[in-house]
Amino acid sequence: MTTPELSDLLQGYHRFREHGWKPERERWATLREGQEPRVMVIACADSRVDPAHIFDVRPGEIFVVRNVAALVPPFETTPGHHGVSAALEFAVQVLKVREIVVMGHGMCGGCKAALTQELHGTEPGKGGFIADWIEMLDKVREPIAREFGTEGRAAERAMEQAAVKVSLENLRTFPCVREKEKRGDLTLRGAFFAISDGALHLLDEATGTFTPA
Ligand SMILES: [Zn+2]
Repeated sequence: MTTPELSDLLQGYHRFREHGWKPERERWATLREGQEPRVMVIACADSRVDPAHIFDVRPGEIFVVRNVAALVPPFETTPGHHGVSAALEFAVQVLKVREIVVMGHGMCGGCKAALTQELHGTEPGKGGFIADWIEMLDKVREPIAREFGTEGRAAERAMEQAAVKVSLENLRTFPCVREKEKRGDLTLRGAFFAISDGALHLLDEATGTFTPA
């Protein structure tokens, strides 16, 4: 399998202009006025798990943030550039989305590195940024490592699914999220996309288990 380079992507862009943009001018004219997505999706940056593709939606239909391992950091006011928090704030307070879906996935490199800790102690630019980011999963690593070890699919899947729960927990440390959820204005959902069979699973937070959607 060969994957496209930018020159190939530009051919795709021209196809989009012909078949995606022109026939839907009216729709784009509406979108020009603004966006009103009702769902925010937080997903991994992994090239295999594009939420727009998986949920088969069109431009303007979902508000997406993607990063390494689909993680939401806790509410932190320390100096720094809080990209995920900024996007979350925009989605919740300005767009007023009704649902937030955290979608983890199978074969996640970020979750795997959180298990093996292979990037631990590396410098920023040499793995250090990733190590620092996935440090958020350290607190769930211990019980997983005890039960499944730190290698193999059982351990990896446990970490991938635990990461979704960590993100949901961190989402609830944001006062605006917590308050809206309490009022019933916002619903949080955990999901897991298995690359191997293309199946989406939804988290039942009461039982902690993921079942096919
Ligand atoms: Zn991933």
